[in-house]
Amino acid sequence: MKLAVIGTGYVGLVSGTCFSELGYDVTCVDLDAKKIETLRAGHVPIYEPGLDLLIECNVSSGRLSFTTDLQEAVSQADAVFIAVGTPTRPDNGQADLTYIMRAAADIAPAMQGYTVVVVKSTVPVGVNRKICDVLRNANPAADFDIASNPEFLREGTAIEDFMTPDRVVVGVESERAGGFMAEVYRPLTDRGFPLLLTDLETAEMIKYASNAFLATKITFINEIAALCEKVGSDVTMVSKGMGMDKRIGGRFLNPGPGYGGSCFPKDTQALVRIGQESAVQQHIVEAVVRVNEQVKARMIANIKALCGGSFRDKTIAVFGVTFKPDTDDMREAPSLTILPALIGGGATIHVVDPLGQREGEHLLPGAHWYDDPYAAADGCDLVVILTEWSDFVSLDLKALAAVMAVPRMADLRNVYAPKDVENAGFEQYYGVGRGRAPV
Ligand code: NAD
Repeated sequence: MKLAVIGTGYVGLVSGTCFSELGYDVTCVDLDAKKIETLRAGHVPIYEPGLDLLIECNVSSGRLSFTTDLQEAVSQADAVFIAVGTPTRPDNGQADLTYIMRAAADIAPAMQGYTVVVVKSTVPVGVNRKICDVLRNANPAADFDIASNPEFLREGTAIEDFMTPDRVVVGVESERAGGFMAEVYRPLTDRGFPLLLTDLETAEMIKYASNAFLATKITFINEIAALCEKVGSDVTMVSKGMGMDKRIGGRFLNPGPGYGGSCFPKDTQALVRIGQESAVQQHIVEAVVRVNEQVKARMIANIKALCGGSFRDKTIAVFGVTFKPDTDDMREAPSLTILPALIGGGATIHVVDPLGQREGEHLLPGAHWYDDPYAAADGCDLVVILTEWSDFVSLDLKALAAVMAVPRMADLRNVYAPKDVENAGFEQYYGVGRGRAPV
């Protein structure tokens, strides 16, 4: 079976590579010629653990190739996976469908023989049907079906998530397409991973509802953390105590500086818009979007309080700026809100991040970049841990305190025990929701 994957971003590149690993003949397509050139030269334009080796292996076995020639790739494919971006429109919070509609228009004339067009991109309910209309109107003679196949992989663990999924969700309109998609995913279902077959609109909704639910869980514990800071409870124990209840579960109950990344912010906003357009307001998700912004503001206020009420003339070391560890993705990272507030208030910022500099340098103007956390903290008034990269979770706290002008720490991911920080010689420690806050 031959597959074409349109879009070689985090989802398209990982999915295409994993499909080739499962034995398919895969051509990955992107209109970004530079990206394709990079991939053809044997380099990977994004960071995802293990992806470089998997690409190398499948390219050399002849099952994986890269091209900008969409028509050629589609004409030979039995299934065309669309994995282009669907970012938030800046004017109204809706999902921007420009890229996906362009991809559909490009695919339409190139389809030859029975083709299943599979939408992996996250799209609002009803968009798969619209894509189907675009394809049909542009090429009425084409023998094709549409399938919605939302992707649930997480950056940082994307290969494992693709190869060992909790579930594969597929929405179809015809039995033929259902049978075809079951065959595509047979290498995974044969290994016991479940395939949930449903209709287009339900598959689309499963993706938004899942992301909104996870964002709600994070936001819920962030709001509880804020309360803990007022009443003196320790949210880390609260999370633990809650998570031990099997009905609740402990995952996504770690408080922090607010959710970010390429999915939760845009998908919660899009769901809010879908609710408004359908006159079924999504009150809970609306509150989640609002509270997540307040969380970032609360972090800024707490950091300011640690600095004695003003950022002016303070030098602050920031450890981690990507939205989570093990990715170079900076989209909607909390750092993009928090750091400009610090810099705007007059602070000098020293940043260290294992992979964030390439993207972060132009997104965070005015920040000074370092390779080593101890060098970054040298002479600083405060260290802020913003992303829990493994490089930052087992620091020599004594050595860190020793190089700082004033040893203080804002641990926005609660990676350290307050006692350990204190014993290492830090004068002040702020952990999210761990007893009374500095403000
Ligand atoms: P991305 O921005 O990293 O990559 C998109 C790629 O598509 C880019 O390389 C772009 O050049 C290419 N592209 C755009 N239009 C094209 C066209 N017409 N023809 C060929 N190539 C085109 O996006 P991403 O993060 O991989 O996300 C893709 C989709 O998957 C989005 O809808 C997203 O919501 C969803 N998703 C993302 C994740 C994630 O963790 N990133 C997880 C699950 C689902």
